[in-house]
Amino acid sequence: MAKQQFQAESKRLLDMMINSIYTHREIFLRELISNASDAIDKRHFKSLTDASLVPEEGFEIHLSADEDARTLTISDNGIGMTKEELEHNLGTIAQSGSLAFKQENQTDDTDIIGQFGVGFYASFMVASHVKVVSKACGSEQAYIWESDGADGYTIEPGEKDSYGTDIILTIKPDPEGEDEDTYSEFLQTYRLAGLVRKYSDYIRYPIKMQMPHS
Ligand code: ADP
Ligand code: MG
Repeated sequence: MAKQQFQAESKRLLDMMINSIYTHREIFLRELISNASDAIDKRHFKSLTDASLVPEEGFEIHLSADEDARTLTISDNGIGMTKEELEHNLGTIAQSGSLAFKQENQTDDTDIIGQFGVGFYASFMVASHVKVVSKACGSEQAYIWESDGADGYTIEPGEKDSYGTDIILTIKPDPEGEDEDTYSEFLQTYRLAGLVRKYSDYIRYPIKMQMPHS
């Protein structure tokens, strides 16, 4: 499929994310975990009237990091997204209710990143590439949304066994000649666990972390 362009508003927010200062970067995890939790809420609600939607393993969020591949994956067994929902929800960020609020109350760019939820695009503060593999509840087919940031995204059919969403972030390379402000920390389990405690303590679903096998 040909590359599709982000909406103007989305592009503005994306550029803001890509150029964000390092102190804000870590909140990407809070945003992705909060989306995972929202998605599980939706499936949970549906499952009250459709028992087939209760996952055998229970509702949960998974984090796993692969230092060699430089990928961090955030998985949920929530409601998932159809092809149309991937297009609509991730291609046009102006859909986000919280962004509308932010724009009305905007003082300066850096301020809103710290204070409000900036949503899914926060991924691009730490990732050079974002891949979303999602299978909507009740759907046969999974779809993959992929983007390197500002120059658009693609959506293609993909493989996924169970309902829900995997967000696979390829973490940016560390800048040369800098000890601090690096990105590799977001591949380290203890650092991720710290962020979960700091920002996602209130999440009511278990957040399980895959430990590195070394
Ligand atoms: P917000 O959460 O404020 O709506 P986001 O930018 O965080 O804005 O997410 C945009 C939309 O993308 C969400 O409203 C939701 O519809 C969809 N979405 C994002 N992550 C997931 C996920 N893990 N599972 C299902 N839908 C998701
Ligand atoms: Mg969100």
